[in-house]
Amino acid sequence: MTDIVYLNGELLAKKDAKISVLDRGFLFADGIYEVIPVYNSTPFRLKQHLDRLSYCLKQLNIINPHSDIEWKNIIRTLIERNGGGHLSIYLQVTRGVSNDRNQVIDEVMTPTVMLLASPLLVNEESIETASATLLEDIRWQHCDIKSIALLGNIMLRNKAQQLGCDEAILHRDNLVTEGSTSNVFMVKFREVYTPPQNQLILGGITRDVIIELAEESGLKVHQENITVDDLLSADEVWISSSSREISPITQIDGKIIGSGQVGPVANVLHSEFQAFKKTLIN
Ligand code: PMP
Repeated sequence: MTDIVYLNGELLAKKDAKISVLDRGFLFADGIYEVIPVYNSTPFRLKQHLDRLSYCLKQLNIINPHSDIEWKNIIRTLIERNGGGHLSIYLQVTRGVSNDRNQVIDEVMTPTVMLLASPLLVNEESIETASATLLEDIRWQHCDIKSIALLGNIMLRNKAQQLGCDEAILHRDNLVTEGSTSNVFMVKFREVYTPPQNQLILGGITRDVIIELAEESGLKVHQENITVDDLLSADEVWISSSSREISPITQIDGKIIGSGQVGPVANVLHSEFQAFKKTLIN
């Protein structure tokens, strides 16, 4: 029951939502996106998602087409029209439709806004573990911008899949950056480590939630460089994202991480995450 999409002010059936071939999103991947989890019809950390959207649009000099109140109304309507419950909202803003295919930007452009909903599969009871492969981070130098240009991520994620792994954990100059679709954490001697937030990683909304929850539970969190060797010798490793929440990595390129099971810190943080969600949505 998630057939209704929002396109430039209209609510339409997916098959009827069409854009111009001259849309710069289509021609150049000139746009930004967000993925917002919705639990029991309530968007999770919406303000933070809208702040990141605003930041990313600013980086590309695309004028934010809506105020936060307008975005909230659009999202609320889309949730209602798609039956509510647990959903994942995909939101995309492109620079808009140009007069011709020209990399130089027309002065006045009206952004194209599209949102769609899909079912969000949440398993609140148990944690889903995953396997990973280490791959060189071949992406550009502005991974803090949530660009719809995802070719690098797609190549890496599919390479991981071909190797029989769920995720690619990326590294540059021997330092771990992030996953192809997630942020990376590790635990050593019951202290939590995650790479620093800079232009080489996306500042994940889930990453921030986990850091807050870990600190509230008295765990020390280090936002500092992690080498490939640090990661491979960690007691626990997990990835985080809006769709996966916390997903422990039990194997990297066939090497067992820690006990090869969900570690105690991941377990505690998973439970706290579920409890935290409940305080917001009930
Ligand atoms: N890094 C990358 C490259 C991602 O694609 C994602 C998922 N969108 C994340 C990190 C995690 O971000 P979030 O927690 O906001 O979903």
